[in-house]
Amino acid sequence: QILEARVALAASAQERAALVMLRDITRSRQLEQMRTEFVANVTHELRTPLTSIQGFAETLLEGALEDPDTARHFVEIMHRESSHLAALIDELLDLSRVESGKFRMRRRPTRPAELIEATRSRLAPKAEKKGIELTAGVPDDLPPVDGDPDRLIQVLSNLVDNAIKYTPAGGRVELRAAAAEGRVRIAVADTGPGIPQPDLGRIFERFYRVDKARTRTTGGTGLGLAIAKHIVEAHGGAIEVESEVGRGSTFTVILPVAGDPAATPKRP
Ligand code: ADP
Repeated sequence: QILEARVALAASAQERAALVMLRDITRSRQLEQMRTEFVANVTHELRTPLTSIQGFAETLLEGALEDPDTARHFVEIMHRESSHLAALIDELLDLSRVESGKFRMRRRPTRPAELIEATRSRLAPKAEKKGIELTAGVPDDLPPVDGDPDRLIQVLSNLVDNAIKYTPAGGRVELRAAAAEGRVRIAVADTGPGIPQPDLGRIFERFYRVDKARTRTTGGTGLGLAIAKHIVEAHGGAIEVESEVGRGSTFTVILPVAGDPAATPKRP
């Protein structure tokens, strides 16, 4: 390390400039490649449900309409695929808004209990339908966070929705919160399948899914966590995940406490 530092010091200004330029070029190539991959991904993700809808519509027109049971089954699939397409388009719009910073946020001091209760009541029917116990425990003395309640409820709902989606019936999902060092930590813990270590660092990437085949049937878009991460970071916060295969996952949203100048980023 010392040697490296000496070499760096010894490098002439010209060499240093060349290094910086090289790094910039590599970075812009990487960005370009990411953009190309993203467009390819979007195209594929939009095409898949559309191809299915088209195929079933054609089969119906070619005669399947005559058999009411078959026809009903096909129309159900078309309905499901078009809902998926609509969700994808909505999430893509959301993602592009958060990524470009064109995201209207109305931040105000917000009680964590308010966020957690809104999320719990929104997802309670889904948990009950699947036979999952959804609980929430919040201490009374938590300080308010500096946040846009609608956006934060969107983030927490996404995490709880995932937890319910991936946890088998009979499992548990728990919302809890705690305060530490000028921040509030809100955790969503589940007793689901867990996420393998190599995937953990990638699940916040757009369209990344651990199990593509399984998520197709659960109807996910692979965009939820990418959006959640952007929203939390726009609050000057962070999102973390811990997971153990076979035991469950815990996603934690860390938010600055309202009125803490050190923890709160400047508003644009
Ligand atoms: P999706 O729409 O596919 O759920 P997300 O961006 O919300 O997309 O999540 C990305 C991937 O992370 C999921 O496809 C799933 O493989 C994994 N994942 C997210 N939450 C959980 C969880 N609570 N338990 C297990 N796997 C999860």
